[in-house]
Amino acid sequence: MSKTNRGWLPTYCQPDAFLPKVPETRVLFSRRPFLFQDFLGRAMSFLQGETIRKMGFVYNPETALPCKWRCADESVFGVDLCLYAYTGQYPFDKGAIGGMFNEASLGAAIHHGAINLDFGGSHVGYVPGENGGRFGAIWRPLHQEFSTDCGYLMGVIEPFKKVYEDACRNIFVYNPGGERLLVSIPNEFLHPDWSGHPIKLLVDIEALTAETVDYRDEVPHTHTMVGRSLFHVHPGFIQCLSPKQAHDFNSPRPTPIGRALTHQFFNIFDTKALLDEAGQPRQKLLPYMKHIVSASHSPEGLKAAIINTSLNHNALTDAVRAQAFLSYDFVSFTGVFIDLYDEDLQSYVNLFQPLGLTIKPQGCQREVEMTTEEIHHLLQEQTPATPVLPLADVLGFSEPEIPLEKFTYHPGYFTRP
Ligand SMILES: [Zn+2]
Repeated sequence: MSKTNRGWLPTYCQPDAFLPKVPETRVLFSRRPFLFQDFLGRAMSFLQGETIRKMGFVYNPETALPCKWRCADESVFGVDLCLYAYTGQYPFDKGAIGGMFNEASLGAAIHHGAINLDFGGSHVGYVPGENGGRFGAIWRPLHQEFSTDCGYLMGVIEPFKKVYEDACRNIFVYNPGGERLLVSIPNEFLHPDWSGHPIKLLVDIEALTAETVDYRDEVPHTHTMVGRSLFHVHPGFIQCLSPKQAHDFNSPRPTPIGRALTHQFFNIFDTKALLDEAGQPRQKLLPYMKHIVSASHSPEGLKAAIINTSLNHNALTDAVRAQAFLSYDFVSFTGVFIDLYDEDLQSYVNLFQPLGLTIKPQGCQREVEMTTEEIHHLLQEQTPATPVLPLADVLGFSEPEIPLEKFTYHPGYFTRP
């Protein structure tokens, strides 16, 4: 009889539990992100143009309130300055640390302006370098060292990443008998009671393994090693391997499973996570955690920022559909801010990859929605508007010194350190 260890998973981690989709990193980053100030200049032109008027939205700079929802991190402060330069107004704050949308701010925001122009999303640091650069860190001039960025999001994913990497190093795949691949799994990755760590990574026995390897006195590799269980590998796992991985594993020497431990073959959860009445975690990133730590085309800091942005964009667009906001206009530009440190300017610089644009004209409950591809297409056609206040006066520079070609990441051109 085949065994399962899925019974020990919380409901939200069950492999058959539906998880709403978020945009794929490889699609989002098939185009280079905008410099935020350039994005904003083009967005302002778009707001004043014919296309959006035909969608039912009438822009009036006299009554429009620029709003931001972003992390409190000073590395994203340039976003506020750009909004100030382009509109001449101080942006209203709809955000909270970690790049969360603060729903409670909405009532006050419409009280201050009948048209809300929202710009927001999560942020992630980027350090240019070989193989697509490094995400999740930035130079902090006040400390004279690199540190995490977004510190909040990186802090959420860090303990999960450590447990995942431990599993990648200590689950072994090999072929000792010359016939079938075997997988040797530490018992703490099979049964939650075998690990004292609050974060449990459980290999999905049904997906990764076929039957257990029976003990045979005369065959030494079948002798049980303390703390480990030995299985035949499931054919479904072999089908997922690259030719190189398959070659490496087909050896009598135990080889760490490494990044071949993709999301289909394990689940990960925090036994201390706070849950709501429905059993869903309060930290909404948790159901996505196995995708974040094991993504093959997306550095985990970037993946976490994309997912967090998607979750909060949903919170924003859901909130503005309420009856109380029916008679107001909302235009919401959502995306991921990518922070770089410009050594020459001694200043942070922000790139912006749009994830979505929604337009909710007054009197409508449902919005016009646009994809990254559509936004790029639409904004590339625009001539950037002139800022109300010169960028050089507000930002301290009109153009970054750091060449934007330094952002070399694109999916497929990225190797993990
Ligand atoms: Zn942050």
